[in-house]
Amino acid sequence: MSALRFKMVEEAVKRKVVEVPAPEGHPSDYFGRMVFNGEAMRKYLRKETCDALLKTMAEGTPLQRTTADDIAEGMKRWAMEMGATHYTHWFQPLTGGTAEKHDAFVEPDGHGGVIEEFSGKLLIQQEPDASSFPNGGIRNTFEARGYSAWDPTSPAFIVDTTLCIPTVFIAYTGEALDYKTPLLRSLGALNRAATEVCGLFDPTVKKVFSYLGWEQEYFLVDEGLWSARPDLVLTGRTLMGHESARNQQLEDHYFGAIPGRVKAFMKDLEYEALKLGIPVKTRHNEVAPNQFELAPVYEEMNLANDHNLLLMSVIQEVAHRHDFHVLLHEKPFKGVNGSGKHCNWSLGTDTGVNLLAPGRTPMENLQFVTFLANVLMAVYKHNGLLKASISNATNAHRLGANEAPPAIISVFLGRQVSDVLERIKNTEADDKIVFGEKNGFRMDGIGQIPELLIDNTDRNRTSPFAFTGNRFEFRAVGSSANCAGAMIALNTAVAVQLEEFYKAVDARIQHGDSKEKAIFAVLREYIRESAPVCFDGNGYSDAWKQEAARRGLDCETSVPLILDRYLAADSVEMFARAGVLNEKELHARAEVCWETYVKKIQIEARVLGDMAMNHVIPVASRYQGMLLEKVYRINQLFSSGKNQMVVSQDRELIEQISYHSTCIQTGVTEMVEARKRANRIENIRQRAVAYHDTVAAAFDEIRYHIDKLELIIDNEMWPLPKYRELLFIR
Ligand code: ADP
Ligand code: MG
Repeated sequence: MSALRFKMVEEAVKRKVVEVPAPEGHPSDYFGRMVFNGEAMRKYLRKETCDALLKTMAEGTPLQRTTADDIAEGMKRWAMEMGATHYTHWFQPLTGGTAEKHDAFVEPDGHGGVIEEFSGKLLIQQEPDASSFPNGGIRNTFEARGYSAWDPTSPAFIVDTTLCIPTVFIAYTGEALDYKTPLLRSLGALNRAATEVCGLFDPTVKKVFSYLGWEQEYFLVDEGLWSARPDLVLTGRTLMGHESARNQQLEDHYFGAIPGRVKAFMKDLEYEALKLGIPVKTRHNEVAPNQFELAPVYEEMNLANDHNLLLMSVIQEVAHRHDFHVLLHEKPFKGVNGSGKHCNWSLGTDTGVNLLAPGRTPMENLQFVTFLANVLMAVYKHNGLLKASISNATNAHRLGANEAPPAIISVFLGRQVSDVLERIKNTEADDKIVFGEKNGFRMDGIGQIPELLIDNTDRNRTSPFAFTGNRFEFRAVGSSANCAGAMIALNTAVAVQLEEFYKAVDARIQHGDSKEKAIFAVLREYIRESAPVCFDGNGYSDAWKQEAARRGLDCETSVPLILDRYLAADSVEMFARAGVLNEKELHARAEVCWETYVKKIQIEARVLGDMAMNHVIPVASRYQGMLLEKVYRINQLFSSGKNQMVVSQDRELIEQISYHSTCIQTGVTEMVEARKRANRIENIRQRAVAYHDTVAAAFDEIRYHIDKLELIIDNEMWPLPKYRELLFIR
């Protein structure tokens, strides 16, 4: 008897909604309460200090040491009044997630007592002894120390009783050991390049911001059931489990009524998020049973990304209060949809113009088309790199499967935008471009682009990178990822591309072209050249795979090989030119990616082997023993032919169990051998390739036979919570 499974199912079924007290006041009252924001700064800092900090936040001007001391003092007072006792430098190691090491404010006062202390020095820089974070060799070959340094552009906040200070994490020699450092560098590069290009249209633009609006998908599983599945606990996904008779075919979960227990959890989560200044807005059920989504209003990218990482840790805490466990893994269940994290990306000026939205005047529209065409070029040239930026062991289960994004990066533009580009492409330099009736405003000397009204309903769910009316939506990003991985690659590619564009236009102007003529000429080239990356059809179809290969797009599907794109000559050149990552940093990053890939597959292989041999095979043997006993006794008692039918069916089951058990045992033995062989490979890239080709490749076969046994063996004996229990109890 599987006592644990039944106990957990019983508990899960009986659970009540955990009522949390309704928040006092309105969201506008408690929004950002736990954040050292403008309001707190004004209250706790002297005016000069506050102004200096706000200037640093807005313009990146360096802070004086004395100012930092003042800020630290004010921040400490605020934090202590809010009940904080500790502080931490909060950073984003390459493992994913966030890291923190808490220190108490208390220091000995020299007279046997303690005082609370927090200085500018402690605020600005620390040396967490974080030597075990992956660094791709940077810290072994150079200087062992890693430093965390305050990022004043993202405000400090309090979680529980700890003051968290967002920081970058860098080596003593200056190389980035985290995600935030290159993200900030890429934002700087993009700002510089985009502002220069904006100058062609509106010289008053002084700054261009990058915006990110993420949509976080996740699964909720009852915590008791979760704890009875070693694979969920240790790898975040189910390595076995037969499909439930019903899963998402009825499509009744999507946008359906949110179940009570879940709703209580969501309310609680939103309250916590709002207090932390995360502007959460949308919540709904997703396609799969027990799958949900949460999305905030978009924000400046560095802040938006910190908010996503913060949410990913808070969500787990809150879920725990409601006896749920959150699965952020990209593919926790076979046969039902996986989870992504759509990254909505746009650029906006300090004059309030969204550069990826059609404007009101022909000039604004020309600017819009300029940015659009440059994004197309960037994605076209670096489609392989962009794929690398979202590829890892967990997201691999989602890519290329018959859902969400295919493992080929293409851009969906929609009919209207495609039409506009087509017409620009086909007109000669001085032609007037005339669009139907609604011609918009005209301006002398400017190619006539009409008022564009983009139909936001023109959508294609199969595209990994889609234009959605006023932004691009990078849908291939995985639910457990740090968005920065993808955003660094995208920002940098677009920054370098915009630089190229400016140079090309400038060269034509030097040769006597008018500005508009020069812009149109370059855009025409770009639209022609980037055409292969544009695809509005069904991204899931096999026909597209062949077509994409013909068009020269990157069609590699093996994660370790996709990661090679980070070190390809054009990527190295691009990152170096933008000053985002140098070659050494890229090598280090690629190594960490391969290493992490190996570790994840290694853990899965161990867990799968262990569950197969210690959970499944013993139960199969016991059930088989019962059948054997039964057949034996029937044969002893009844010799007549009457019972032979029953006996022969039982014999059949006995044979099937033997067959599947043998296949599992051989499969596991071979997988272990493959692992041993792979482990002997010194070179980390080669080892990752071997793990992909020989270890991960063995999973499906083993799983297939386990899932078959699940169908045969007595339900009461099966030790692991089944899909129907994991997906439908809430
Ligand atoms: P959907 O599921 O239809 O894509 P959601 O409302 O779930 O839409 O999420 C859309 C996300 O895109 C939100 O985070 C929203 O704030 C964000 N967004 C909207 N406009 C922009 C923009 N101009 N730039 C970046 N993000 C945007
Ligand atoms: Mg979306």
